[in-house]
Amino acid sequence: MVVAMYPGTFDPVTLGHVDIVTRAAALFDKVVVAVYANPPKGKVLFSLKERMDLLKGALAHLPNVGVRSYDGLTVQFAREVGARVIVRGLRSGSDFEYEFEMEFMNKKLASDIEFVYMMASSRYQFVSSSRLKEVASLGGDISDMVPPNVAEALRKKLPLPVKRGNKQGGKEE
Ligand code: ADP
Repeated sequence: MVVAMYPGTFDPVTLGHVDIVTRAAALFDKVVVAVYANPPKGKVLFSLKERMDLLKGALAHLPNVGVRSYDGLTVQFAREVGARVIVRGLRSGSDFEYEFEMEFMNKKLASDIEFVYMMASSRYQFVSSSRLKEVASLGGDISDMVPPNVAEALRKKLPLPVKRGNKQGGKEE
């Protein structure tokens, strides 16, 4: 039985993530989606519980997929859940550079864990959590990039953008 772990921040989960999990679930006996509890890369929009609930909702149709949260070293948590494989998704060249460096470090820490990289499907190449949060906050339509429960959560979380122009309806200077 091979358990794979798919770690990330998932703030929030996108269809790009769902695509990777779906493909991993077809390859491995079990996939643990591991949500990093306290990301160092700045403020997250969704709380840990929200990020996990959105993932659970979006992945409920996949019976061999579970969602867990973790803190600390990714490879340490992989050992805790019995994962021999860590799955990551690759979009652009910059993803590659980042993953290449991370793998070097992680392999030093845990030579027993193998890393598997999946290329993002072409239609999700340019889908990223940070970009779609920005677009959504400006009132753009992101519904074809995220599962329906995430589109709904973003609508509730982000205030509608203030319309520019003269509120009094008079002439602009
Ligand atoms: P992290 O903070 O670790 O980058 P993310 O939640 O942004 O966490 O992403 C988790 C994983 O999913 C990473 O391997 C990332 O490269 C990958 N990923 C993100 N967006 C996509 C996408 N659109 N298609 C495929 N993989 C993706």
